[in-house]
Amino acid sequence: MKKKPTPIPFHRASLGKAELAQAAEAIKSGWITMGPKTLEFETEFKAYLAKRGGLKPETLHAVSANSATAALHLALKAIGLKRGDEVIIPTTTFIATAEVVTYFGAVPVLCDVEEDTHNIDASRIERLVTRRTKAIIPVHFAGQPCDMDEIMAIARRRRLKVIEDAAHSLPSDYKCRPVGTIGDITCFSFYATKTLAAGEGGMLVTANEAYAKHARINRLHGISRDAWDRYTLKGSWRYEVVDNGYKYNTTDINSGLGLAQLRRLDAMNAARLRIAARYDRAFAGSAVVRPVVRPDRTTCAHLYVIKVAGRDELYDKLKADGIGTSVHFIPVHKHPYYRKAFGYRNADYPVANRVFERSLSLPIYPDMTDAQVRRVAEGVLAHAR
Ligand SMILES: *Cc1c(COP(=O)(O)O)cnc(C)c1O
Repeated sequence: MKKKPTPIPFHRASLGKAELAQAAEAIKSGWITMGPKTLEFETEFKAYLAKRGGLKPETLHAVSANSATAALHLALKAIGLKRGDEVIIPTTTFIATAEVVTYFGAVPVLCDVEEDTHNIDASRIERLVTRRTKAIIPVHFAGQPCDMDEIMAIARRRRLKVIEDAAHSLPSDYKCRPVGTIGDITCFSFYATKTLAAGEGGMLVTANEAYAKHARINRLHGISRDAWDRYTLKGSWRYEVVDNGYKYNTTDINSGLGLAQLRRLDAMNAARLRIAARYDRAFAGSAVVRPVVRPDRTTCAHLYVIKVAGRDELYDKLKADGIGTSVHFIPVHKHPYYRKAFGYRNADYPVANRVFERSLSLPIYPDMTDAQVRRVAEGVLAHAR
């Protein structure tokens, strides 16, 4: 019997001694919920983005949360989204982008995407703007920033806010400006599969102090002061509830993981980019359509999404070879709840539909070995048509 090769999972977080030490430190400190490590993580996170963009750290505010979904919810509340308002989002995204809009009784207005980048098609945004439109949420698909100049120009012209869903794009740059320093508010994800993995977690980043303050208060029950103050010697039992907030804080255990990952982010990023370059070379001149990255921006290659005819067969064959792949994303307009609630029509999103039918995400993570990358590439080339 032929021996089966060891499976290659679609994803595996790169976690080692540094992460273990940081999480252990939080546990040993006896303070395991949001506390000093979370503060340290927020401070280092905004310093990282500021340094990358050549800005002073004081110009940015970073508010951590227990997920990017929570951060997006806090962002939309901070800009004052109301029932009946509309928010323009790409249909090619994870459902969280749409879901947070519905939390307000507001309407996610779906925009079709670009065939090559899978990003929101900025040239189609303005015709979707109505008197009720309050915001645009661009999603930087797979890590590549959207056309931010065009999107910011539309927002300025039509008095809209731009909340960036940056769940894929840490670290990515648009015209030398890091994602996180461009729109009104940017939300990052530290979910287990993202480029900075803290188990769960998110970060809201903004240059607007009022938004940051609003988000900080709403992150913890609408309490006017950060709770850890209450439990330290400098705090007291007194607090006031000034808003109807949420329970969206992260923990110092997660923030410890986040800190360790942040300090390794550039190295992990370089490793992912090396894998993307190897895939690019392997698929050159084949029937496999490779990801396109525009020359004025960079991607962190959170995902490596190819397009092929017969995607489902390829997925099955690779699975049989022990190679895990995935599909990003089933467009929002195809999900039953959203179809029913908002009456989206499949025919309105021809590009997203074509992209969806042919897309396949290949494994790409720092700890992949050269042999694993080669095996994936060879598997794809052997089966793709
Ligand atoms: C992962 C993801 C989110 C949600 O992130 P969580 O931290 O899991 O809430 C939002 N948008 C996109 C595009 C994502 O991929």
